[in-house]
Amino acid sequence: MGHDAQPGVDSGVCYVCGRHTDTGWEESPSENFTAWSQVYRGTVMCEWCRPIFKNRQFRQRSWVACRTGVQFADAEHRTLIWDTLCEPPEPPYCAYITAGGQKQGWIVLGRYPSTSRERFWVGTDWTDRPVLIERAWVHEQAPLLDRMRERKTPKQVLLDGQFSSGAWSKAMAEGWTDDIEAVLSRVGNPRWEVVVRAHS
Ligand SMILES: [Zn+2]
Repeated sequence: MGHDAQPGVDSGVCYVCGRHTDTGWEESPSENFTAWSQVYRGTVMCEWCRPIFKNRQFRQRSWVACRTGVQFADAEHRTLIWDTLCEPPEPPYCAYITAGGQKQGWIVLGRYPSTSRERFWVGTDWTDRPVLIERAWVHEQAPLLDRMRERKTPKQVLLDGQFSSGAWSKAMAEGWTDDIEAVLSRVGNPRWEVVVRAHS
């Protein structure tokens, strides 16, 4: 973060986390920032939130932040988000999952720290608000996701439900049309998209 190490000089409420600061920066997160409806009605970015904006990994990758630090879902931690959904860390923590790696979709998470391991928020870059997830529900979805992966069903099909006629034929021959029906009943559910994208 180099040249940004100096404290800011502006006082006000941080529009990310809502805390007051006397050493913030009165500036927009980025030139083309469009998520104002999601953030606090503050006027500055505080000294804690600003470095996150300046670190592009927070929008390009999925990540989990907890007391011990932040972990990004990089090549060495491909299963980070799925593992977190199944076994969340000690609260408080924040989990963020990105589909596109472009939007600053995590910003609203400043208002949604997770304080439970059973029900928690997952920030995304395809919903306006974090998605409330229950750990037990994640575990319930795991067998279905595992079976669909074994059948090499593309994630996009799990998300849009556009199973090919070939897939239907195969499912009828092999007796798993119930699984297709189960997927179809979940399509459009934000929680389903979180687990499909996280499952690895
Ligand atoms: Zn802040």
